[in-house]
Amino acid sequence: MRIRILGSGAGGGVPQWNCGCENCAAIRAGRPFIAARTQDSIAVSAGPSGWVLCNCSPDILLQIEAFEELHPKAPRHSPIAAIVLTNGDLDHVLGLFSLRESYPLVVYATEGVRRGLFEQNAIARTLSRFEGHLTHRALALNAEVPIAGARGEPTGLFVTARPVRGKIPVHLEGVAPSSPDQNVGLWLRDDAGARTAYVSAVADLADVAPHLGGVDVLLLDGTFFSSDELSRPGLSKARAEDMAHLPIGDRGGSLEWTPKLGAARRIFTHINNTNPMLVETSAERRRVTAAGWEVATDGMEIRVDPTSA
Ligand SMILES: [Zn+2]
Ligand SMILES: [Zn+2]
Repeated sequence: MRIRILGSGAGGGVPQWNCGCENCAAIRAGRPFIAARTQDSIAVSAGPSGWVLCNCSPDILLQIEAFEELHPKAPRHSPIAAIVLTNGDLDHVLGLFSLRESYPLVVYATEGVRRGLFEQNAIARTLSRFEGHLTHRALALNAEVPIAGARGEPTGLFVTARPVRGKIPVHLEGVAPSSPDQNVGLWLRDDAGARTAYVSAVADLADVAPHLGGVDVLLLDGTFFSSDELSRPGLSKARAEDMAHLPIGDRGGSLEWTPKLGAARRIFTHINNTNPMLVETSAERRRVTAAGWEVATDGMEIRVDPTSA
């Protein structure tokens, strides 16, 4: 299995258009030891039968152009066989509407995510321009499904969506009921037995840790280093837990969970622009590295070999 990190930033990206925090300013000034990041999405491949996107960020067009293997091989073609969604947050789904140029799309999503995206949403009609434009395939919770392209071509990849603690997208608050299928982690497997868990938004690892035995690579929510990262400098009143992201470095945070997260390789992604570990020389980065974690960057390639089959 191959994974390409298309975007390793949280919602807003790094830098974020309306943010003048130290990290965003450092990138605009071209300072070293910190890299710009587009919004959260990965591409996964099990072989020559195409790529599967996990999430489709507002930056998808740039992300496709930046990765030659996602370029068309014919006048009308895309190597993207299917798109799997983890939730309905706009930083994970808005890119779908940028892929509206009349090409068959296959989207795997839970019922709650599908409803939030396609019901009462006039813009969604732009993805039903012809019969078979968008094929929706259901992701039932805790059940493995093979991922196939528009004509049923197998990709060699299988996915299990597991409910993980999260929250309903901001635009659905008070409109749609909160349900366990509004936020899932994706457990991906290929025929060779390589296993990856992609959990880019999660408030509590109690639902994640028990399912990491035999997982070769864990890609985990690295949004905030601390709970008050936005509130302390007055950027927002929200704390990390209000936004359903478990902070990394706080008491009870993901670093403390490390011994219980049995994956062979652990990588933080979906990183907010305020996160101090983005600076490669920071004390926070040293703590993360010392605890055995890597920090994803855009364009990072991960080869997943079955290490613990
Ligand atoms: Zn997000
Ligand atoms: Zn910023």
